[in-house]
Amino acid sequence: MRKKDRDNKRESKKRESKEERPQRKRRKKVCIFCAEKFMPDYKKIDLMKRFVSDRGKILTMRSSGCCASHQRAVAGEIKKARQLGFLPYTVD
Ligand SMILES: [Zn+2]
Repeated sequence: MRKKDRDNKRESKKRESKEERPQRKRRKKVCIFCAEKFMPDYKKIDLMKRFVSDRGKILTMRSSGCCASHQRAVAGEIKKARQLGFLPYTVD
């Protein structure tokens, strides 16, 4: 690829990200603990597994969809489950 082409490509990319990105309507995720009215529990391993990544990290609020108070509870319960060996600290 010639240098000029590459530059043009970069330019158009920059412009796109600044102004012309189509506004997608994202549906707000609803906190499952608020919706179902229960609290996260370290003994429910299958449930808690949904809040860790495949590397064993705790998911962010953004990806878990939890509200602040339940996200805090989830993180605490996952840490408890890790200490008891139900969930891994890391996955290689
Ligand atoms: Zn909640």
